[in-house]
Amino acid sequence: MTSDSPAKNPAKTFHVKSFGCQMNVYDGERMAEMLGTQGYVPAADGAHADLVVLNTCHIREKAAEKVYSDIGRLKREDGSTPTIAVAGCVAQAEGAEIARRAPSVDVVVGPQAYHRLPDLIARAERGEKAIDLDMPLESKFGALPKRAGGQRPTAFLTVQEGCDKFCTYCVVPYTRGAEISRPFGDLIAEARALVAGGVREITLLGQNVNAWDGEDGKGRAIGLDGLIRELAREDGLERIRYTTSHPNDMTDGLIAAHGEIDKLMPFLHLPVQAGSDRILAAMNRSHSVDSYLRVIERVRAARPDIAISGDFIVGFPGESEADFEATLDIVRATNYAMAYSFKYSRRPGTPAATMDEQIDEAVMNDRLQRLQALLNQQQQAFNEATVGRATRLLLERKGKHDGQLIGKSPWLQSVHVTAPGLAIGDMTDVRITSAGPNSLGAEPLMEAVA
Ligand code: SAM
Ligand code: SF4
Repeated sequence: MTSDSPAKNPAKTFHVKSFGCQMNVYDGERMAEMLGTQGYVPAADGAHADLVVLNTCHIREKAAEKVYSDIGRLKREDGSTPTIAVAGCVAQAEGAEIARRAPSVDVVVGPQAYHRLPDLIARAERGEKAIDLDMPLESKFGALPKRAGGQRPTAFLTVQEGCDKFCTYCVVPYTRGAEISRPFGDLIAEARALVAGGVREITLLGQNVNAWDGEDGKGRAIGLDGLIRELAREDGLERIRYTTSHPNDMTDGLIAAHGEIDKLMPFLHLPVQAGSDRILAAMNRSHSVDSYLRVIERVRAARPDIAISGDFIVGFPGESEADFEATLDIVRATNYAMAYSFKYSRRPGTPAATMDEQIDEAVMNDRLQRLQALLNQQQQAFNEATVGRATRLLLERKGKHDGQLIGKSPWLQSVHVTAPGLAIGDMTDVRITSAGPNSLGAEPLMEAVA
């Protein structure tokens, strides 16, 4: 470790590298904001920073192992290293073992304790290995600096954390702890701060975001749909999204909200994981193929143009060829706009890790390829079906070509457009002119989209 206290040296630099899910991206941003208030300034990359925070993901084995190669790469030519903090779910799962395996690590901090990062860094500077895996009852959110918005027109806002569902393959209930919902008033205040800082689209985040519940300003019990309704009243906030949802928590109110709230974008990420009831039961998913398809049907009745996205795991222990064919069937029945698909990864400590009939790597590879071929076809078809359509984009970043900007459609597609006078953060009306698998082209529209 080669750092002085940030208070003594205000020019200390930091770099936060987040892996994995959007909740980690949110946590990484909050850590960066907190380090900013401690006198640190952002470095361009880890190679030149005084402090590097690796904000890790433990969901699959590959993601977890990547941390160790990243730590190794932080060693400089003269043998020195920056102050290294390992945060996130690998920190929670492996704890002190990380500092034993990688002695250059100074701080290990779990996802519920990162508000204590400044103290931990100070302890590390005194030569201690500073390790904090506490899941304190008081929420970290109250101890973090207030949000100020950022350079981007879009932001994540974590409303719910943890999981009580215990799917048999998943580490989240162990690394993120029990399900908690952040209080309504705190969320409205954070959303207002983001909007005041120029944010026009907020994505509400949670491991099971639609399990959020709370009391509104008048003390009435509300669910996620109530929170969305309240946020939709905020002037300046143009778009609301939420992810990730569990099929069992798609309430009538949330489904209806998709047909009633214009600011709620027509996109739903609803993982099913597998298409065979036998495998869903072994996964402890607590929903069936039928109940999932019924939810999709009702959401589409409420909002006919909604884009559906999902997550899939192939090669769960005991998955037969017939079970896998059933997964292809549910994909055909649902017709996804996009999806994430993974090979089952055996995670120590989860019930599935010790189940009989673990599936061969070669079989998993073959199934993943077949599943992805079908999902890619559906994604391309969804994108092609939007060609010719007039829609509105929120412009988020510059494109490769002069004057080109990339924005998101309501259906979360990346769309390229070139037009004079447009800037990042603008909402602009376009007609979609071309579609590839991952991005689309558009031309500006003179008349506004209704
Ligand atoms: N709570 C969400 C749900 O129930 O669908 C998912 C959150 S989880 C962090 C994100 C995705 O990682 C899951 O939907 C699942 O597809 C994948 N995943 C989780 N554990 C996995 C494992 N052991 N192997 C492969 N993929 C896994
Ligand atoms: Fe993991 Fe299942 Fe909880 Fe999703 S619902 S976070 S997959 S345990």
